Amino acid sequence: MSNENETPYTGAGNLLHQAEALQRILDTCDLIREAEQVPLEAALGRVLHQDIIAPINVPPADNSAMDGYALRAADLPASGSGSLRLTGRVLAGHPLGSAVARGECVSIMTGAPIPDGADTVVMREQAQAADGLVRIGPGHRRGDNIRRRGEDLQLGETVLARGRRLRPADLGLIASLGIALTRVFRRPRVALFSTGDEVCNPGDSPRSGQIYDSNRFSLRGLLEDFGAEALDLGILPDEPELLRSVLREATLSADLVLSSGGVSVGEADYVTQVLSELGTVSFWTIAIKPGRPLAFGTLGSRSLFFGLPGNPVAAMITFIRFVRPALQRISGQALEEPPSFEVPCLDALKKVPGRTEFQRGTLRRDDAGRLWVGVTGRQGSGILHSMSQATCLIVLEHDRGPVAAGETVTVQLLPG
Ligand code: AMP
Ligand code: MG
Repeated sequence: MSNENETPYTGAGNLLHQAEALQRILDTCDLIREAEQVPLEAALGRVLHQDIIAPINVPPADNSAMDGYALRAADLPASGSGSLRLTGRVLAGHPLGSAVARGECVSIMTGAPIPDGADTVVMREQAQAADGLVRIGPGHRRGDNIRRRGEDLQLGETVLARGRRLRPADLGLIASLGIALTRVFRRPRVALFSTGDEVCNPGDSPRSGQIYDSNRFSLRGLLEDFGAEALDLGILPDEPELLRSVLREATLSADLVLSSGGVSVGEADYVTQVLSELGTVSFWTIAIKPGRPLAFGTLGSRSLFFGLPGNPVAAMITFIRFVRPALQRISGQALEEPPSFEVPCLDALKKVPGRTEFQRGTLRRDDAGRLWVGVTGRQGSGILHSMSQATCLIVLEHDRGPVAAGETVTVQLLPG
């Protein structure tokens, strides 16, 4: 493979704009319909199949936000200080069982239910207790230090919507409603393989001219990070008969079949031939760098197929730009890109209009606290180190020309 950086760029003539490619992909995606019930402990990263509607208020009752004294606001001194009789104690989880009367207060712990009659809590540090009396100064207001029933979640409210990919806080939120099981979409199943006589497995002894397969590992990482189930088909050698049987088998169980390598036009013709026997696959040249060649289509009756470029950075970037949104679509999620924002760029960047470029960057702050992005060393599409060091992609838009040092660029955080 030649160094892509040295390849003269020949213009956008027959290239497919990346937005158009993505649209065609999304239009082909069908939703996985099967759902399953999982315990909350196993629901991280899963996608809700139904709205979560609050069956209760959270918190279920007014309760104290502080350790202190619960009392009636009418008994608060308008000025100077006043004393109230201390008549009891209320602990979290143990309602008082009687009411707080005029001229009285009870000591109360954080989280304990506010007893009848009381409507205000004064912090322990702001009162003095001695001889069965609690002395309180001025400056308190009705309702101080009380967490209201339903102030977090209200009975009947839609707390999380179908399509939500569950995050740690969501699990806590669902648990706070007393819900122990959630209904989620089945995970997408993705069959993954590498191609090419030159690639071998890490752990094997390479023949002369061979390199180790890295794509299957970075792609598997992206799949698992996404929440997909990876079915590893290994490295498929250049034998049409074998490829045919493995792919036929894969389409029986996989929602998506993912390969890397061998999609440059005219290369390994038998791959094209086998794919066209088993489904409808087109080969696209997309106006992006890295990652121009991409094969996309369907195999069997229900599997999507992506043939990613072999270059390790290109394989990852095309996954992030095209496969990930397709997985979001089929797994029932709302389409959601990682956050992006504008920052000045430390480095001057070469760029020609007519294709979208994704350089690998890291964010750092200067002495004045201002955020900058810089590139992670050499940016060739085979330099996987540039990806490993990156925390974000520097997105250079389709029509943009070269970037001068200090110019503002768009950065997008890497998923995961
Ligand atoms: P290809 O897309 O097959 O023309 O491959 C482009 C470049 O990526 C070549 O240098 C390949 O050796 C390399 N390549 C292909 N597959 C892999 C893989 N699974 N892991 C690492 N490099 C690969
Ligand atoms: Mg190849």
